[in-house]
Amino acid sequence: MAIPKKLKIGPSTHRVNYPKVVRLTESGKELNGSILFDDQVVNIRSGLPAARRAEVLLHEVMHGIAHDRSIDLDEEDVTQMARGWLAFIIDNPKIMGTKFLDIWKE
Ligand SMILES: [Zn+2]
Repeated sequence: MAIPKKLKIGPSTHRVNYPKVVRLTESGKELNGSILFDDQVVNIRSGLPAARRAEVLLHEVMHGIAHDRSIDLDEEDVTQMARGWLAFIIDNPKIMGTKFLDIWKE
């Protein structure tokens, strides 16, 4: 499976970038990832280990879903949901994927 270059979150398709440095726009603080809703861009810091990059990507997706669904999640909620989803995906590799809906058909 290739590293995603695009993610569809709700109605929006986000371009995914893997820069060496990710900064918070307002303060310039360095981050591991970010999502820019208006620009439809997800940034994941490229120097992170693979498992951490996967977690950060899911973290930004959680922000995107919460934004799309108008759910008010704080940063810790997003972090814990991302870690929970990462564990679920790793623990259930056969359940995920493009054929996810097909397994429910009889
Ligand atoms: Zn966050």
